[in-house]
Amino acid sequence: MIQIKWLARGGQGGFTASRLLGLAAVKKSGGYAQAFPTFGPERRGAPVYGFTRIDDKPIRDHSQIYSCDYAVVLDETLLDAIDITAGMAAGGTLFINTALDYSGRKIAKGVKWVTYNASLDAMRILGRNIANTAMMAVLAAHTGLTDPDAMEAAVRESLPKNQIDPNIKIIREVYEKVRGGYTEAETAANASSGEKAAAGDFKVKDKPVMAAGFRYPATEKELPLGPSCQAGIFLEGNAGWRTRIPVVDHQKCIKCMICWTLCPDGVIDRNIHIDLNFCKGCGLCAHECPRKAIVMTEEAK
Ligand code: SF4
Ligand code: SF4
Repeated sequence: MIQIKWLARGGQGGFTASRLLGLAAVKKSGGYAQAFPTFGPERRGAPVYGFTRIDDKPIRDHSQIYSCDYAVVLDETLLDAIDITAGMAAGGTLFINTALDYSGRKIAKGVKWVTYNASLDAMRILGRNIANTAMMAVLAAHTGLTDPDAMEAAVRESLPKNQIDPNIKIIREVYEKVRGGYTEAETAANASSGEKAAAGDFKVKDKPVMAAGFRYPATEKELPLGPSCQAGIFLEGNAGWRTRIPVVDHQKCIKCMICWTLCPDGVIDRNIHIDLNFCKGCGLCAHECPRKAIVMTEEAK
């Protein structure tokens, strides 16, 4: 089984990338895939994990991924706060979307790393900094987990109509660039903490260019107004973005506790009552219930 972690901020498409990769891997090689997120605070900009499992056998493990083979970071500012390499398998590879040169940095021992400025391609091709499909192409080009035709098929099946063509374009361009264009010198230089990156790895040498007169804020009061609110302002439950809710038929339920065991948010109690203030509507409980005693229904807003 191959396990991949995606780290992004809300709105950057980390979960979408985890789903697209799983689908594209199955389209390339058959087999099975699983993709799911964990969310932090429910607001745009908060850290979000996406997880992808790929195997040639049915996947029964629905737990969060702790030890992964690959990790992909869509927003490198999260690296200061979150140790994405924790639990990473020896020889695992970390893929970072960045314009910075990482060659002087310490990455966790035993972890290879690859940098790619996917935001640059995203701005050029998509017109916005959503680098998820570009980083999926980087991962695919290095690992062979999937290929451009399968990624195109996954995009056609999953993304809204207006996003299909530009995302196929970025996937194909980035994949070809990564597969084709890096010199031996760049490959050799891309090593850190004694770990040599895999053949074909590369680094981006350009430093980010700041606008004239730019300076970093000296205090938090100078930070620009963001989308988040002062802590404590939200007093309601945290499931406002959900579109479907699970409904339990207690006549059918045999108290096998499978849903209780598998609910990723732990919101089902021992009497199989679901706390809808915190259920995120993922549908895992309904999918796994052997008696079909839980059904997902549209949530009335
Ligand atoms: S999985 Fe289904 S049958 Fe088992 S406890 Fe949950 S609702 Fe009841
Ligand atoms: S839909 Fe079911 S499994 Fe998912 S969070 Fe809600 S109760 Fe838990």
